[in-house]
Amino acid sequence: MSWLTAFVRPRIRTLLGQREVPDNLWSQCPACQQMIFTKELEKNLRVCTHCGHHLRGSALERLAWTFDEEKFTRIELPKVPADPLGFRDSKRYADRLKEARTKTGLDDALVVAHGTIAGAPAVVAAMEFGFMGGSMGAAVGEGLVAAAKLAVLQEAALIVFTASGGARMQEGAVSLMQMPRTTIAALLLKDAGLPFIVVLTDPTTGGVTASFAMLGDIQIAEPGALIGFAGARVIEQTVRETLPEGFQRAEYLHEHGIVDMVVPRLAMRETLGRIIGLLRPVAPVPERVEA
Ligand SMILES: [Zn+2]
Repeated sequence: MSWLTAFVRPRIRTLLGQREVPDNLWSQCPACQQMIFTKELEKNLRVCTHCGHHLRGSALERLAWTFDEEKFTRIELPKVPADPLGFRDSKRYADRLKEARTKTGLDDALVVAHGTIAGAPAVVAAMEFGFMGGSMGAAVGEGLVAAAKLAVLQEAALIVFTASGGARMQEGAVSLMQMPRTTIAALLLKDAGLPFIVVLTDPTTGGVTASFAMLGDIQIAEPGALIGFAGARVIEQTVRETLPEGFQRAEYLHEHGIVDMVVPRLAMRETLGRIIGLLRPVAPVPERVEA
């Protein structure tokens, strides 16, 4: 590349305000390999218009897809000590965090917002798989506790969209402590008699599956989502048996009672609204007056 193309051309382009044709005009469906107009795909909530495959969505997209009229208010999540162990593998954990923050524009792998779903107040916590595989460290744990507290304060339902590879290894035992911590977050809702709904999205595995992700009053999954604790290969090697077709997929888990419903993304908001309407307390029970 000469100085002419490297320096002068971009300068001219900036001056003229011209933009090149974006290279993401078309997207390819990973399931049927068909090309889809990206705008069309986004309008269809990232569900393939050819085969119905559910492509992964970001945490912020989840919020927009879930709240009425795509309106919501994000809350700031508690700050946690960064890199408590001073961990380093092939890279420093601090650097990995920095990279993930630049890539996603988020502080960590969880976003929390409040608004309404079908008119009912709701708090939604959505995990971001693009942030270090949606792994759960102290920030995600604290974020979920904050979401639960907010739901109790607002007498709202809490809906969690999971997407995670599990515990964040770079935080060691601190990461594992988030399993009981997030279990307590789920209990806060139960104690207040408010609905706690979990929507399992592709993929949900490891320590997230082993804690709050399985504690919903209603367990919903998106079609085709991979949901499990350990990977299929590890299980196969341990039990020395060939695993059945569709093992650890949403539909298989629904047939076997781990998941209550498999709901297509385009019907998710309406379904959540209906469930919240059914589970929310109608009116406070009046205290009995002594005669
Ligand atoms: Zn497709």
